Amino acid sequence: PGSAELVRGRVVRVDKGLSTVLTEDGPVRATWSGGVLAAIAVEPQATPCTGDWVALRHWPDDRITVEALAPRRTAIVRAEASGTSRGQVLAANVDVIAIVVGLEPEPNIGRIERFLALAWESGARPVVVLTKADLVIDADSVAEDVATAAPGADVLVCSATTGEGLEAVRALLDDNATMALLGVSGAGKSSLVNALAGVELLDVQAIREDGKGRHTSVRRELILLPGGGVVIDTPGLRGIGLQESGEGLAAAFPDVTALAEQCRFTDCAHVTEPGCAVQAALEDGSLPVRRYESWKKLQREAAFMARRTDLRL
Ligand code: GDP
Ligand code: ZN
Repeated sequence: PGSAELVRGRVVRVDKGLSTVLTEDGPVRATWSGGVLAAIAVEPQATPCTGDWVALRHWPDDRITVEALAPRRTAIVRAEASGTSRGQVLAANVDVIAIVVGLEPEPNIGRIERFLALAWESGARPVVVLTKADLVIDADSVAEDVATAAPGADVLVCSATTGEGLEAVRALLDDNATMALLGVSGAGKSSLVNALAGVELLDVQAIREDGKGRHTSVRRELILLPGGGVVIDTPGLRGIGLQESGEGLAAAFPDVTALAEQCRFTDCAHVTEPGCAVQAALEDGSLPVRRYESWKKLQREAAFMARRTDLRL
């Protein structure tokens, strides 16, 4: 009975079964269709989330429902603490993950490695954005240190305050790309978004201000930048855990992974085994001890997650 035509939109946020979806005509609120609810009952990851592309139907009584979800190109997933499900999808269809880290206080490299493992896992391209460059004198040497911990990822230096280095960050949004921000509170994410937008975006952003109809205010979680490109900055992405699978970890540590493949024993724990290529690299200094320790720590975490996954099968 609803309108025959489906309208395309992108989910801005989801709150208690109600979604805010951005369409060509502005944001609308939509609930799930029976079909979507049935899919969620079978697989909770089918729940629409920020960044999802959806098909909407308008009903004669003015209700709007999400009828279908487009396949996700990438997904940032939080491993569940309870281990009872596959983990909640926090953001979908993200092209670039900007790991935002302030240069002051001094960056925590282990934390950057954790974010990198998570980012590689999602399928999106990780980039480390070192911000607050105006607060330090040796930003480039810190960037070099960080780069050794981020093989395969670009490391950019910028300042939201002075605007230096922002062009390279803005270029990540070329071709209308979607960029998600990861980083601890206080890292400088909001300031970076404001600087990229060129205007001060308030916490509650009116995204329909055409003077007609009602104003719809949404918390700024999916932000269309005036110059093109989309930024996703959701509270859920702050303080996120490590994924269950070790694939992201292997991608974040290609140096250690390559060494581990050369060990004499395939089940080498890289501690005291004879013929261990990892221990040999530690001894000759080609693998920094800090990096090895960081990898061990994240591996233990991932293994713990995997065990919990086994237990519930
Ligand atoms: P968020 O929690 O990651 O969103 O961090 P905010 O953007 O709120 O920034 C945290 C604090 O760092 C605020 O006091 C900002 O004014 C400050 N800040 C952010 N970016 C810069 C920068 O590039 N330079 C300087 N000097 N301060 C910054
Ligand atoms: Zn080994």
